[in-house]
Amino acid sequence: MTELNRYTVLPFSGARFHENESRLGDGELPCAICGKVVAQPFAHTATVVGGGAWAETAEDAANTTDAGYMGVWGIGPNCHAKYLVKAANGRTSPLKVFLGLTYTQGKQLRTIVAARTQKTAAQLLGIPLNHLQRYWSVSGNKVDLDTALASPEVVFLASDSVRRDYSPAPTSTSNAKAAGQ
Ligand SMILES: [Zn+2]
Repeated sequence: MTELNRYTVLPFSGARFHENESRLGDGELPCAICGKVVAQPFAHTATVVGGGAWAETAEDAANTTDAGYMGVWGIGPNCHAKYLVKAANGRTSPLKVFLGLTYTQGKQLRTIVAARTQKTAAQLLGIPLNHLQRYWSVSGNKVDLDTALASPEVVFLASDSVRRDYSPAPTSTSNAKAAGQ
């Protein structure tokens, strides 16, 4: 079955795509994201159109005579789990990076976490959802995005409220729990 999967990163954007692809043996096919071999039959697929974009509609995916059509690709289980954008019919949305402050040992620490929903972020932070909605924002800062998106659902704390010298929260929930209460 052909799925219309889309991902939060572009096709062929893995840093080692070409290197990984060049190592494939006869008959092996690369993951469209990282270039590593994907077991066949594919558990997950995506259609690449427009010369390097994920097909978003069945119509795009079926337009095989378009000049930018690049075919149906397998997606490896790791890339699928890490980057999948679930359909808007309700299950989940793309990863967002939530930014706020947590209070630890009398200090305010800039805090980020990548999650697909506010609810998940609040759970990971151990704070009430309405607290997150009221005091937290969705970050567009490059450092925040690079840090949090590399490890979804991991809470990162900076050393104060201004710097972005993040490291993973030692015990993410207990730290943040103290903050939410
Ligand atoms: Zn991959």
